[in-house]
Amino acid sequence: MLKAGLYRRPASFFYHTLWEAIDWLYPPYCGGCLQPGSRWCESCNANTPPIDQTQICQYCGYPVAGGGLCFRCIELSAPPPVTIRSYTTYQGPIREAIHRFKYQKDIALCESLAIYLIELFNRYKWEVDLILPVPLSKERKKERGYNQSFLLARPLSLHFMLPISTKAISRTIHTNTQVGLSAQQRTENLTQAFQAQPSLVAGKRILLIDDVATTSSTLTAIARTLVGAGAKQIFALTLARSVLQSHTHQEVQQNTQP
Ligand SMILES: [Zn+2]
Ligand SMILES: [Zn+2]
Repeated sequence: MLKAGLYRRPASFFYHTLWEAIDWLYPPYCGGCLQPGSRWCESCNANTPPIDQTQICQYCGYPVAGGGLCFRCIELSAPPPVTIRSYTTYQGPIREAIHRFKYQKDIALCESLAIYLIELFNRYKWEVDLILPVPLSKERKKERGYNQSFLLARPLSLHFMLPISTKAISRTIHTNTQVGLSAQQRTENLTQAFQAQPSLVAGKRILLIDDVATTSSTLTAIARTLVGAGAKQIFALTLARSVLQSHTHQEVQQNTQP
């Protein structure tokens, strides 16, 4: 199994072994290219290049040649309430894989892909008290049956022995896709959509986990809500980062549903 050595904690090891047992019962195929043999093959791994973490926006992690701030963050009058970092860009096999685990119930993929989040967290080693998966609205959760961000966050929580909560933040308003709105409009739209439990977040350093960041407005809106409830510091990791196509600045519209 790819980089299985990362699973060195007992709870993490058992979790990993459970998935290996499932693989033995139901031989897996790759979530990126559908080749049989493993849930995430070496070729798809090789075709998932990490974002160069020295060439990103220091606030939101968006790829920027030479570093500094991206075209969105440069407009801000103050630093955003969350520091975001993403492993790779939202294209190629990872895009296929995210599509499969979000829309085709291929939930076993989450454990394979969470390795990238573990690698990224290992790089930054932020001091964190609590992990919060980005919540879905009740309607979306019911429709999908699970929250993919929770499934991605759980291996991270087991690996680093950090508590995870699905109660500390909730999404009370179901927002439809926000493609076409500016980042500012999206954040304003979303800030009312989340509710935090002050007793669970006050004074805490929090790590948010999501599958894809588009404009970062969801993460910013959640961070604002958490700060309003007394959280001390907010970080966020996402597996992938949706990047604008050059020239047109048109967003990749597919698969941007929360
Ligand atoms: Zn593959
Ligand atoms: Zn930025």
